[in-house]
Amino acid sequence: MAKAKATERNPHVVIVGAGFGGLSAAKALASKPFEVTVIDRHNYHLFQPLLYQVATAGLSPADIAAPIRSIVRGRSNQTVMLETVTSVDVAASEVDLPPGSSLAVM
Ligand SMILES: Cc1cc2nc3c(=O)[nH]c(=O)nc-3n(C[C@H](O)[C@H](O)[C@H](O)COP(=O)(O)OP(=O)(O)OC[C@H]3O[C@@H](n4cnc5c(N)ncnc54)[C@H](O)[C@@H]3O)c2cc1C
Repeated sequence: MAKAKATERNPHVVIVGAGFGGLSAAKALASKPFEVTVIDRHNYHLFQPLLYQVATAGLSPADIAAPIRSIVRGRSNQTVMLETVTSVDVAASEVDLPPGSSLAVM
């Protein structure tokens, strides 16, 4: 099983999910002495409260989805990974990813 593990000098914070919670955490950690990796199974943040507007054809899907990379752009301590996390081993400080997946950071 592929694993993403901290190797940087600063403490490595892995945020699983770029929803409101994950993006709020990432924003709070911008310019702080941490290496931050935001992992999401999608490459976009979905603004869920406006889903009904898409369902009723008031908006297009692109209007309520924003690329995660564009949101964190400019934060030198943050990278984004498109991946599905399968489990988290807190004791080992490891985030498990599907077998065979690439660990390349976008
Ligand atoms: C139709 C609708 C309308 C809503 N309207 C309102 C409203 O008016 N006001 C309000 O306050 N709240 C509203 N909510 C609720 C609000 O959207 C949620 O409370 C909020 O999005 C939760 O944020 P979150 O960060 O916890 O999770 P989410 O926003 O669900 O984000 C989770 C993220 O984690 C990613 N993810 C999940 N599992 C994995 C994994 N294993 N590996 C990698 N990535 C993963 C997902 O792709 C997603 O990007 C609404 C929700 C819906 C569905």
